[in-house]
Amino acid sequence: MRALIKKENKPECMEVGEVEKPSCPDDHVLIRVLAGGVCGTDLHIRTGEWICGRVPVVMGHEFSGEIAERGKNVQGFQKGDRVTVEPHIATCGVCEYCLTGRRHLCPSKKGLGIDTNGGFAEFVAVDPVIVHKLPAAISPEEGALMEPTAIVCHGVLVKGSVRSCDRVAVVGPGPIGIIAAQVTRAVGAKEVIVVGVERDREIRLKLCEDLGFEPFVAEDRKRMARIKSRYDVVVEAAGVSKGIGLAVDLLKRDGQMIAIGIPMEDQSSVPWAEAVRKSATIHCSYSSSFSAWEMSLSLVESGKVRLKPLITHDLDLGEWKKAFDVLVAGKGVKAVLRP
Ligand SMILES: [Zn+2]
Ligand SMILES: [Zn+2]
Repeated sequence: MRALIKKENKPECMEVGEVEKPSCPDDHVLIRVLAGGVCGTDLHIRTGEWICGRVPVVMGHEFSGEIAERGKNVQGFQKGDRVTVEPHIATCGVCEYCLTGRRHLCPSKKGLGIDTNGGFAEFVAVDPVIVHKLPAAISPEEGALMEPTAIVCHGVLVKGSVRSCDRVAVVGPGPIGIIAAQVTRAVGAKEVIVVGVERDREIRLKLCEDLGFEPFVAEDRKRMARIKSRYDVVVEAAGVSKGIGLAVDLLKRDGQMIAIGIPMEDQSSVPWAEAVRKSATIHCSYSSSFSAWEMSLSLVESGKVRLKPLITHDLDLGEWKKAFDVLVAGKGVKAVLRP
């Protein structure tokens, strides 16, 4: 079968090639992949900054598909069911985290499409414990974006909280930021703005504006000065030092900062004194829980969170390079690949 393969943990070393179609063990389901989302992590895997646990490996950890085969011990799924899949595999099932519904934090956890073969392929076999059925209203390409939506719901709704009287600022207008703006509005925030940088103006901030969020450009000092210390909740989705500093700057006293973006450098300079003086509550949020996936599915099914407008590129798997290049250049928001 056709798959996008990372061959070595070095820059580039990626190609679409033939790999053996996976078999379906008795306790797994075999999924025919319909669409896979390209994530920031994939861009870092391409450059060699993100190290895969195993190479060669089939990439892709955000995808949807339909059940092509069901292992004989599997219950609750039928051939033809449309599904989306959590990327958390090899969890132990017996640690404190697994036993308390936080499988995504299990120390044994591995990443689908990073440490074992993932979804940029025609087929993938997985344990049904990580599979969620897609409601009829959710298309395959939207299903491929459930993973970033679940990351947002975990940060904003499971770890943090948003009240109906809250003003919310989102820093970083990438897919995570644009979904975060929609999720906070869906649960009742009274005002939601999105802050980007100059190069986001044309495409990403334009999309935010089209979706009804007032866009701000960090370089526009005059406008930024007017919104300093205004927000009850700030979602940091940029994952860079400047974004983290800006998030603290926008936060009200006793406000809540929800940190989702992951900086590639280990040390980030944060205006810690200002955060302490503001009595900030900081929720760092990593990965996504089962309940966050269920919240995501219902928010997208109801139409309160719209994922289709984020998909600026819908391409055949063979065109992966084009998809990766437009995202790196900031010329797109989200790309999906069809195997
Ligand atoms: Zn991802
Ligand atoms: Zn565990």
